[in-house]
Amino acid sequence: MSPTTQRRFLLGEAEMPTHYYNISADLPVPLPPPLHPATREPVGPDALAPLFPMELILQEVSQERYIEIPAPVRDVYATYRPSPLVRALSLERSLDTPAHIYFKYEGVSPAGSHKPNTAIPQAFYNRQEGVTKLATETGAGQWGSALAFAASQFGLDLKVFMVKISFLQKPYRRSMIQAYGASIVPSPSNETNAGRAILEMDPESTGSLGIAISEAVEVAATHEDTKYALGSVLNHVLLHQTIVGQEAITQMGMAGEGPDVVIGCAGGGSNFSGIAFPFLRDRLAGRTSTRFLAVEPASCPSLTKGEYRYDFGDTAGTTPLLKMHTLGNDFKPAPIHAGGLRYHGMAPMVSHLYDQGFIDAVAYKQNECFEAAIRFIRTEGIIPAPESSHAIKAAIDEALRAKETGEERVILFNLSGHGHFDMAAYDAYLAGELTDVVYEPAGAGAEGERPAAAEREAVTA
Ligand SMILES: *Cc1c(COP(=O)(O)O)cnc(C)c1O
Repeated sequence: MSPTTQRRFLLGEAEMPTHYYNISADLPVPLPPPLHPATREPVGPDALAPLFPMELILQEVSQERYIEIPAPVRDVYATYRPSPLVRALSLERSLDTPAHIYFKYEGVSPAGSHKPNTAIPQAFYNRQEGVTKLATETGAGQWGSALAFAASQFGLDLKVFMVKISFLQKPYRRSMIQAYGASIVPSPSNETNAGRAILEMDPESTGSLGIAISEAVEVAATHEDTKYALGSVLNHVLLHQTIVGQEAITQMGMAGEGPDVVIGCAGGGSNFSGIAFPFLRDRLAGRTSTRFLAVEPASCPSLTKGEYRYDFGDTAGTTPLLKMHTLGNDFKPAPIHAGGLRYHGMAPMVSHLYDQGFIDAVAYKQNECFEAAIRFIRTEGIIPAPESSHAIKAAIDEALRAKETGEERVILFNLSGHGHFDMAAYDAYLAGELTDVVYEPAGAGAEGERPAAAEREAVTA
């Protein structure tokens, strides 16, 4: 391969997309609506008004293909956008593959992941509608730090309910949130009915994302001046992330190639949607046959092993019912190191497109993902977030299949964040201390890797 082959494809600030792409406008079958849990009727915009500013509620149900990105949002995006598209030449060489591997690098944001792409507009729209305080939850701390950054940019107060186990085990994400000026409450807490109910049953509870969501939603619902913000799953979040894929389309054009497969790891589904949806537009219109691959952990496989049905977004059952692939709102994910992928459900939009056959999914165990991450670190030099390593593993497998068939496949994946705060996880992997956890639904054919219940709950390193 020629040593002069171009590695990085960069856009100037002026080339940043001016609009978000709304895939709702191009769906062959409309998305099933959220339902009120009691009446089972579709929830109207009014029902969501205590939680979200009106502009975000309108975006949630919008059928407009393109929605303009406000100038103040573009201004804050410019602290790190457009993000680079990189051809992973060293990784290609180490795999000796004819495939071309590209990745879009979202770890360049101040918070270190793709999450500021939605945190920034969410903070802006709240500010614009006179909201002064936000409440949210965070698991591993990535969403909390992204929203804390965005809240600081727009002068909003932020209270973050941080899952207690992460509060204790991830001190640096906690420090980061506090450095941006937000306040943190370990969840479950005594500040909400939802938190108190959990603590009454189990005073030692170390919390979960579902419980923390219940607490943050309750604070927003019961305080006139406070709104809630969610970092994944909802349509407006996926919409904001489409800035990633739109940039990538321009950058792949600079590289003179189009992807045969577009890959993203999938927790709630937002970074995957962000890179996939703008490319999916051409597939939906029959102009391409690009494949789209969502990658999830084998321990929390909502797409590949979950049921497609209406379910709650939180543990307490206070949110509207969403039609999604779900493991059940009482599902307790094993404590794997890709904290951002430990959510019981999948975005309704991703679930719908998967159900319609436009998206494929695959699940991997954490050790094989860390192995892929180490290969990536020793070739491309970037230390990926454990979540992102799932996308890397899938990209490597695609490249190895291309090698078998001698095919010049073009692979594009989203590198959703860096792993600089996750070095304890790398330590555990390198020391050989990580447990693989494979979830099988109850009653599934007990073949091969089905672990005992105790093993499913196994605490890893
Ligand atoms: C939160 C997070 C994810 C998972 O969330 P999605 O909504 O599925 O994108 C993936 N990667 C990183 C780095 C994260 O912080």
